[in-house]
Amino acid sequence: MNTKYIFITGGVASSLGKGIIASSLAKLLQARGLRVTIQKFDPYINIDPGTLNPYEHGECYVTEDGAETDLDLGHYERFLGVYTSQANNVTTGRIYHTVITKEREGAYLGKTVQIVPHITDEIKRRMLLLGQTGDYDIILTEIGGTIGDMESQPFVEAVRQLQWELPEEDCMSIHLTLIPYLSAAKELKTKPTQHSVQALQQGGVKPDVIVCRTEHPLSAELRRKIALFCNVRPGHVIQSIDAWSIYQVPLNMHEEHLDEIAVRKLQIDNFAVPELGRWRTFLERIKNPSHEVEIVLVGKYVELQDAYKSIQEAFVHAGAANDCRVHVRTLQSETITPKNVGELLKGADGILVAPGFGERGLEGKVHAIKYVRENGIPFLGICLGMQMCVVEFARNVLGYADASSTEKDPDTTHPVIDMMEEQKKTTIKGGTMRLGAYACTLKEGSLAASLYGSLAIRERHRHRYEFNSEYLDEFEKHGMMATGRNPETGLVEIVELPSHPFFIGSQFHPEYKSTPENPHPLFKGLVAAALEYKKVKA
Ligand code: GLN
Repeated sequence: MNTKYIFITGGVASSLGKGIIASSLAKLLQARGLRVTIQKFDPYINIDPGTLNPYEHGECYVTEDGAETDLDLGHYERFLGVYTSQANNVTTGRIYHTVITKEREGAYLGKTVQIVPHITDEIKRRMLLLGQTGDYDIILTEIGGTIGDMESQPFVEAVRQLQWELPEEDCMSIHLTLIPYLSAAKELKTKPTQHSVQALQQGGVKPDVIVCRTEHPLSAELRRKIALFCNVRPGHVIQSIDAWSIYQVPLNMHEEHLDEIAVRKLQIDNFAVPELGRWRTFLERIKNPSHEVEIVLVGKYVELQDAYKSIQEAFVHAGAANDCRVHVRTLQSETITPKNVGELLKGADGILVAPGFGERGLEGKVHAIKYVRENGIPFLGICLGMQMCVVEFARNVLGYADASSTEKDPDTTHPVIDMMEEQKKTTIKGGTMRLGAYACTLKEGSLAASLYGSLAIRERHRHRYEFNSEYLDEFEKHGMMATGRNPETGLVEIVELPSHPFFIGSQFHPEYKSTPENPHPLFKGLVAAALEYKKVKA
């Protein structure tokens, strides 16, 4: 069978959840026994989202091979349980960078380099790349942005050309739109969808399926109207109604026959019914759990829902594993002072101090950590959160009042967190952090070892600073232990306080590898400890 390509565009509004629809269809096809991956093409000019502030574009996700990517790749991995890579996320910036580099090398000598064909050829080349590995039966390609945007035009043109070049049965196009509900008129409106499809068709791409995001069910009549005016087959208007959980969406899409339409359109002889047993079990678990806990997420980007996406999702997975609903309450670290910390953390059964960059909100994180350390509240610190628990310990246990990270105080006399040696040479900001998966060896008998059930792990990183190992002996003498270290460099990757019920800081990001079917051990452990803490507290 040839590799098949499904293209997903979005119209009417952004944030409709194209990534979730793509992931859901991919999940269903995978559950039918097909080998599937998803890639995202983003129309912005940044080479990757690594240099973007989370307020701009939500969390920056990191793949095993160290790519800094759009957060939708996190959804792809969580739904499919397979790793993505650098090749799964391409931006306009990356496309232009390749074309301009080739131009400088003389690859187009004599030719005028243009959007068509040079930019569109490079987009097409990348769209086909994963398909050529032979590893996949189906490649879903999500086009970021909204149809009609000037910047997405070259991508739409590339899709048009591919649909023309590839055999008809190897290509499919899905358009996701919004059907707004006007409460004054008590009516669902289809006009924006009609306009969006018109714009798409003006670009030469005819959708095979229209998926409609809606807050109310679409009547048969309305579906027929959309089908007629948007020129798709009557059964190919799919309703995607607001779901109680993103993990419910694959089941909703299956009920709407989206996977069946796809295998028929792509002429895949696949009569399998999707095998979704484990997925359904997970959904049952998150629907009606027997327990609940409150975890406070301390961070500085808390105003934006998407800024800590993978952490939020990891708590859903860890909750399911503990038969527990995890209420994640976000807390702006800038607001925390030594005076109000007790009040702000009241009710917390556990706290997670989030990753981050720069100086803002750092001191608040230190105050929160001092409080949980002294009060035996379960704690997980990730990356910057780990670094701040080291700083807190140095200040309040080792007695180095001015101990700090050199990220905040370059002139501190006790740089317990310091820039990694190789980082000192880099001036370029994009793609130069310590990125992607590294091995880590756990100390026998440690909390981390018992949670992982193994001594050899691999976790993903994204940082420039590290635990300054010149201080390690002193930390360990006073009770903060390095229980996870990089086997080659000795870099400290995990610290623990064995005297505390649950206190772990990880230099890596466990949240990136948590999935519904494989909840992450550190999150699972934190939720279990929070449940225990709640019981004892009561
Ligand atoms: N700013 C810190 C560093 O670069 C932590 C990074 C993070 O939390 N991802 O090391």
